Amino acid sequence: MAASQQTVIRGQVVVVGGGMVGAAAALALGRQDIDVVLVERDPPRSLSGSDPFDLRVSALAPASIALLDRIGAWASIRSERAALYRRMRVFDAVGPGDLTFDAAEIGRPYLGYIVENRRVQLAIWDQLADCDNVVSVTGSQPSRLEQSSQAARLVLEDGREVSADVVIGADGQRSWVREAAGIGADTHDYTVAAQILSVETAYPQQDITWQRFTPDGPQAFLPLAGARGSLVWYDRPEQVRARHALEPEALRVEAMKHFPPELGELESVAGQGWFPIRRLHAHRYGAERVILVGDAAHSIHPLAGQGANLGFADVAALDTVVAEEIGRGRRLGDERIARRYERMRRADNQLVQSLMDGFDRGYRRRDPLTVAARTAATQLVAGLPPLRRWMTRMAGGQRLGD
Ligand SMILES: Cc1cc2nc3c(=O)[nH]c(=O)nc-3n(C[C@H](O)[C@H](O)[C@H](O)COP(=O)(O)OP(=O)(O)OC[C@H]3O[C@@H](n4cnc5c(N)ncnc54)[C@H](O)[C@@H]3O)c2cc1C
Repeated sequence: MAASQQTVIRGQVVVVGGGMVGAAAALALGRQDIDVVLVERDPPRSLSGSDPFDLRVSALAPASIALLDRIGAWASIRSERAALYRRMRVFDAVGPGDLTFDAAEIGRPYLGYIVENRRVQLAIWDQLADCDNVVSVTGSQPSRLEQSSQAARLVLEDGREVSADVVIGADGQRSWVREAAGIGADTHDYTVAAQILSVETAYPQQDITWQRFTPDGPQAFLPLAGARGSLVWYDRPEQVRARHALEPEALRVEAMKHFPPELGELESVAGQGWFPIRRLHAHRYGAERVILVGDAAHSIHPLAGQGANLGFADVAALDTVVAEEIGRGRRLGDERIARRYERMRRADNQLVQSLMDGFDRGYRRRDPLTVAARTAATQLVAGLPPLRRWMTRMAGGQRLGD
């Protein structure tokens, strides 16, 4: 349901940002019979099965898939251009460390699926359109946030106003909501950028993702549906910019030269782009009548493809907390909801953020002592199946106590 040009739109919750995470939050809460207003500046353009693959893809872990299934979006995502993977290999370009995690070892049919971000977003938006208590307000963005003991009010740039008990900021890493609510954040710009190549491969569709750690940064292969893949090439920004200027054929040759033989022959580079990468952690996930989810609250080094998965875990936690607290008679603007949600999520987000930085730093070093320590750690995991199984489950979004 799309909002008309009325002046004040009233909901119980307003979600700012309808990316994968914000749209999932709006839908999950809408499914609880909560009146939701979703404000999105740039709604997703349609994507047909014959369009070239989008550059932005995500490896979705089982916990994210379970959430998407519960809110009714997964069947549609899986039906087109989703690539299942069963194994995940991690290896060292400098030392002999080489580990493979396999879904079969933990009795699961898969470790995850690689999907285009836009397809995930569109599948959720399709469900939103059929959800009577979600109103979407598109093509504008908020310019003012007012918080009072009664409500939160957003004034949009086009003059419309939205009023609700609580504002959920799901507007990404450069979150306007976070700034407007006066919530600070710790940030760190990594010295590498991520170049993404959408490629056609001589190998048929694969069911393995792999990641090779080099001293310049990781290189990753994510299989896409059909004989295709997404390569993520972390490197110094000047190197990335130089390669970005290359014609597709020259870039194909460069990728063949620098990527390991596991990649096989590349037929062509169908698309490419690059992204600066930044770590961010908001000092709080909530302030008076404001709650942050997804990249607005935290963003991490994407080397293990966990950012959107953490955002979906935020949504699942918030959904649970809201249902329970409403069941106890609390109102949505009650600060205890934000505090409980933050207690459920902060430690996990912090842990994954620190692990990614640990991998990044640990694998950049090439001195013999560090390489020996890396190799020993890899051998330990390889020789201890219970530890390997635990790590495989962690990568799937399962945590201690689940
Ligand atoms: C190279 C790379 C590879 C990655 N690979 C993976 C992976 O394999 N797996 C994984 O889980 N994660 C991955 N990630 C991380 C993942 O992409 C992000 O964590 C995820 O997209 C965050 O989703 P989000 O909805 O929180 O934010 P965003 O995707 O940033 O969405 C924010 C939304 O808010 C809207 N918006 C912004 N400002 C406003 C405003 N003022 N008003 C209204 N609307 C607004 C935007 O238009 C957008 O729709 C990767 C990241 C990078 C950089």
